[in-house]
Amino acid sequence: MNQPAESPVLALPDMQHQWLPFTPNREFKADPQLFARAKDQFYFDLAGRPVLDAGSGLFTTPAGHCRDEIAEAVHRQLQELDFTPGFLRAHPKSFELARRIAGLLPEGLDRVFFVNSGSEAVDTAMKMCLAYHRARGEAGRTVFVSRERAYHGVNFGGVALSGMVNNRRAFGGTVHGVSHMRATWQEATRFQIGQPDQGAELADDLIAAIRVHGAENIAACVVEPIAGSTGVLVPPRGYLERLRDICTAHGILLVFDEVICGFGRTGEAFAAQSFGVTPDLITMAKAITNGAVPMAAVAAARFIHDTVMEAAPEGAIEFFHGYTWSAHPVACAAALASLDLYERDGLFARARALSPVFLEAVASLRDLPLVTDIRGYGMIAGIDLASDGKPGRRGQLLQKKLYDNGLHLKTTGDCAILAPQFIFSEAHIARMTEILRSTIASLA
Ligand code: PMP
Repeated sequence: MNQPAESPVLALPDMQHQWLPFTPNREFKADPQLFARAKDQFYFDLAGRPVLDAGSGLFTTPAGHCRDEIAEAVHRQLQELDFTPGFLRAHPKSFELARRIAGLLPEGLDRVFFVNSGSEAVDTAMKMCLAYHRARGEAGRTVFVSRERAYHGVNFGGVALSGMVNNRRAFGGTVHGVSHMRATWQEATRFQIGQPDQGAELADDLIAAIRVHGAENIAACVVEPIAGSTGVLVPPRGYLERLRDICTAHGILLVFDEVICGFGRTGEAFAAQSFGVTPDLITMAKAITNGAVPMAAVAAARFIHDTVMEAAPEGAIEFFHGYTWSAHPVACAAALASLDLYERDGLFARARALSPVFLEAVASLRDLPLVTDIRGYGMIAGIDLASDGKPGRRGQLLQKKLYDNGLHLKTTGDCAILAPQFIFSEAHIARMTEILRSTIASLA
């Protein structure tokens, strides 16, 4: 394993003015965990202490941190063309990026709309579904079907789709007309790595939603192929296929939220390809720029794009939607450099090759007393710990101790979510597993 270089000791900043996202602000500021620097597989804290990044940042950085190729592309772009107003003006790199992404997507799904975050991608995809149905004269299709234990971001559409009640509870109001199917976690498939061999029939919850709402009122079914940030729920064999068939039979659009899965996490460019199921829209974000610059996108099937285009009169704006930062030149430059890196270094194939080593290492932790389930697929895995009576408290303690012991990953509730970088070596996997083992053992 390469030894990270020394880095300088930095002072703790004045932290009172920033309101932190998804963080217990008061507790954090009393005992902060800050990263000052990063390189390749490691973060470094203010004292220069290395922390192995087993979360790829936040599923964002599979090619490792601070890659010169991306930094140089961003620097060049900032000197050449820093901004274009995206409404009525464009720049060549965004078209090139859309073409490159279309080349990675499943056949027929090749019209790409750029946004700036996963949450924006989800809400944009929802609007595309609504616009498509209206364009076809089916304006009644406004209901969305999603899933419990789903995370689709925090904008009004996505938070309504999400199956995480905490993200809505504090606000009261949200978008109505969302029906939730059951999550795909099953007691009977505990500790099964890869796709569980039972549970395809959970897809029939979509049939139940059709019975309640009427297919003629349902716009789309939105799922993460693997529910990522709520604990890595891998779809049972046949489940996504069944969702696809039901959607097709009833004129319902199928949306895969691949904000986490996209760009190699499952060993192919998209999970749609790993699972052999082609949705009608795919949302993507995070690894699109290897985490270096905020960017996200929605890929739509050509028939959706063409229907929306053709419904509008010649010369009219066809889709009244977009952001100031849509297809920002710097984000496009970072994304193109990232795709170049993924391609040049064969990183999706590397993820595929490293996956069995990673999954076996994670599965080896099943003997630890607190571990109640382990799931995984490709380069993502979840380890459930028994609750200490207050849900989430043990997960939070684990998170803290792992940081102290030199490992970064995300926890959700009492679940540790591992998403190593594709540039990890077997030695990094071994180190990750060792720290996890001793840290989880110390909680018992
Ligand atoms: N969808 C999924 C599946 C996600 O995992 C996330 C973020 N973890 C989002 C949407 C929201 O993305 P963002 O935080 O960039 O808004």
